[in-house]
Amino acid sequence: MTTASSSSTLTGTVLRFERASIHDGPGLRTVLFLMGCPLHCPWCSTPESSSLVPQRGYNQDQCTLCGKCISACSALALAINVAEKKVTCDLERCRLCFNCFQTCPHNAIKKYGFITTVNETIEQIRKDEIFYFHSGGGVTISGGEPFYQPEFTSTILQECKKLGIHTAVESCMHVPFDMIAISLPWIDHLYADLKQMDKYLHQLWLGKDNLLILKNLKKVDASDFPVAVTVRIPLIPGFNDSNQNLKETVEFCANLDKIIAIEVLPYHRLGSDTYRYLDLDYQCKDLIPPSDEYLFERATFMRKLAGTLPVIIGSGLNQN
Ligand code: SF4
Ligand code: SF4
Repeated sequence: MTTASSSSTLTGTVLRFERASIHDGPGLRTVLFLMGCPLHCPWCSTPESSSLVPQRGYNQDQCTLCGKCISACSALALAINVAEKKVTCDLERCRLCFNCFQTCPHNAIKKYGFITTVNETIEQIRKDEIFYFHSGGGVTISGGEPFYQPEFTSTILQECKKLGIHTAVESCMHVPFDMIAISLPWIDHLYADLKQMDKYLHQLWLGKDNLLILKNLKKVDASDFPVAVTVRIPLIPGFNDSNQNLKETVEFCANLDKIIAIEVLPYHRLGSDTYRYLDLDYQCKDLIPPSDEYLFERATFMRKLAGTLPVIIGSGLNQN
């Protein structure tokens, strides 16, 4: 149990804050993106958030090969590759001290994430309090996977509720239920991903099956807390857009009382540059995003099956 005094110094790893978002819950939202995720979806729009520790990126296009970062690296992790006109990093030597990031005069080195306390986070959130009041908004914790830092997420949510701020969480739901349960009393709205009903296809694309996700959704539904749940499907052509999958998704959701809507999100490529900066392979580079018409047609198909359960089309700006 986190006490009042310890909660102020409790730390978490935050990727970034986003202010005045209109895509992550009702009204104007402050979105707190946390680091760390147990799933590695090939279409993820925030690959820089997958690790629980801050990450170092490098944009060759902005590098002038001035060599200042190399002098700043006491771990001797950096070198200039003359043939390829870039700075290379020996990951086994890199201690993630970020001296190179602070030294680079051309913003070619990126730092993804920082460690901060609950108090500092709440201070940031409180700067937007007036907007929550006027717009019916609040705070949304996203990621990464918020429940992957269970104590930090739970304490932030609890502090928000003490301040009367509406709370939402966006989750992939692939974590042990205990990590979710600790936050449930403080969540007004849970946005839960349900990417594929077939456990074999889920395993094939994501490396893990969907059993934990389905179980967690049922446990949230059976809990005593009045959390509203919106199930989100990032529509990935060839993975989960079939009639069979959409039908099974609707049937599953219609049986759970706390699910108030299904939200269909379009797949997009907003994170593709970040894969390059992190020297990661972007496996979805050849995947064409669905057209608006196709998205609408798929949502209409689900609506015919969903009865009174609303099926809405979202922006899909944050896809994990
Ligand atoms: S983060 Fe630190 S150790 Fe890693 S390359 Fe940069 S300066 Fe060197
Ligand atoms: S300091 Fe920046 S611009 Fe200079 S070599 Fe390093 S990454 Fe390139």
